[in-house]
Amino acid sequence: MNDYDMIIVGGGMGGLALGALLGQAGKKILLIEKNKRVGGKGLTFERKGFKYEMWPIGYMPLKDNAFHALFEKLGIESELKPAWDYESDEPLVGFYYKGRSGRYDFIDSRPKDVADPSPLFDLWKLDENERESALGFLAQLVLMAPEQVDELDDVSMKEFMARFELPRPLIEYMDMHSNISLLALSDTASASEQVKILQEMATKGAAGYFKGGYERVGRVLADYILNHGGEILTDQRIESIDVQDGQVTGVTTKDKPYSSPIVISNAGIQPTVLKLVGEEHFAREYVDQIKNLEPGMTLLTTRYFLSEAVLDRPLYLTYSGETVWDSERYQKVRAGGVPDEVGLWIVVPSNYDSDMAPEGKQIVIASTLCAPDPQAKEVEVLWDKIDEMVGKLFPDLLPALEFKERGGPSQVSKLARDQVLPNQGGEAIGLGQIVGQCGRHKPASKSPIQGLFYVGTDAGGYGVGTVQAVDSAFNCFAMIE
Ligand SMILES: Cc1cc2nc3c(=O)[nH]c(=O)nc-3n(C[C@H](O)[C@H](O)[C@H](O)COP(=O)(O)OP(=O)(O)OC[C@H]3O[C@@H](n4cnc5c(N)ncnc54)[C@H](O)[C@@H]3O)c2cc1C
Repeated sequence: MNDYDMIIVGGGMGGLALGALLGQAGKKILLIEKNKRVGGKGLTFERKGFKYEMWPIGYMPLKDNAFHALFEKLGIESELKPAWDYESDEPLVGFYYKGRSGRYDFIDSRPKDVADPSPLFDLWKLDENERESALGFLAQLVLMAPEQVDELDDVSMKEFMARFELPRPLIEYMDMHSNISLLALSDTASASEQVKILQEMATKGAAGYFKGGYERVGRVLADYILNHGGEILTDQRIESIDVQDGQVTGVTTKDKPYSSPIVISNAGIQPTVLKLVGEEHFAREYVDQIKNLEPGMTLLTTRYFLSEAVLDRPLYLTYSGETVWDSERYQKVRAGGVPDEVGLWIVVPSNYDSDMAPEGKQIVIASTLCAPDPQAKEVEVLWDKIDEMVGKLFPDLLPALEFKERGGPSQVSKLARDQVLPNQGGEAIGLGQIVGQCGRHKPASKSPIQGLFYVGTDAGGYGVGTVQAVDSAFNCFAMIE
């Protein structure tokens, strides 16, 4: 006699999406979340009338992504409330790029412009020959068949680009894309993963946000679970996932055990295997494999709360050949080196949805790439560099500052992902989208233990962050069924 058909450990986007799908299928589920509210890394906070996530989150692709598929399957499409329309003629993304001109030049783009690279070619100041080779390369990427993309699972984006003669600014753009979309260093980012994401961007746009913030989406899913007979406990940490004779039997919180033949963990593969279940329940080979999985990078963030609206666009990308990072460059920062400049990924939630800030005010969330290590020492230097770059590129911003907050890998880990290994815990997406761990090599949703599954950005799914978490819920649901 079990208490529940299934128990879900954690209420991030992956756990909530799966819970809703299982609720729709009539399963009796219990979801247990250690934080006071569900939403995981997508939690939305409120301070002095400003509403915001702790870091910049922009979903990709803009239309027809896993969130749309999920809400449609659940029959609650009208609850999703995207803040930006693919057809919109309003500029969505502002690019600042420092290339051949030696200063930061600017263009902005509407969602549909992603299909036409010529404004970027102008920004990069490409000559005719360079335009031709860049166009040929981009066309080849977009037209690549799925089987050809799969063949790139074992190839880094850097290696892939080296097969062509490409203009420097195009390589720098792709490196920036590895850093920002995959949260990977440019020499480790998997070409298959990056090409798939670029293909989707070209046809479906990028940089979406939900009205009211991400947590509202999570709450809609939580309500769906509750309305379909499920239970949700918050502010309760699961201390262990219990296993007997190779079969899951349930979970235990500090107060009591709950029994179930199926447990699905949204807590991350490494914390699940190494801490919640315990190494002793797995074959040594599997434990080694899990320990060797590499976390992705994270974003170090500063949130600027402004007394007036200073920035026009909802999202900005600022970069140069000097600010895109590969392993060698990042190691220098980790060893105490101070970069001259850093690239920025900036989201302005109140330019997506005016309700995210008090009238006339603005919230700006600026970030740069950082190691996932919750003890990373380089954070102080990088936070200062974020301020410096923001001051340089947007001179009106700091004079309008009411107050600011800083966040980084230790906050990510505290909020959503236990540190169980050195240099891990603060990863933004989850396991790195790097060569050897993506596509056909990505860990599956099913664990070797009978009845134990994983959901969320570590397992099965593909894409950028939140969309990947929801995609993984679909895969996990199919497997459990
Ligand atoms: C800095 C940063 C920038 C990002 N930028 C983007 C972006 O631009 N676009 C994008 O799409 N995504 C972005 N993401 C990634 C995105 O937020 C995540 O990939 C996604 O939200 C993860 O969802 P998840 O379901 O896999 O897990 P999580 O959100 O990590 O949820 C896991 C949940 O499990 C709970 N939990 C863990 N252990 C236990 C336990 N023992 N007991 C009970 N509960 C437990 C946690 O509290 C948490 O709520 C970003 C993330 C960060 C940190």
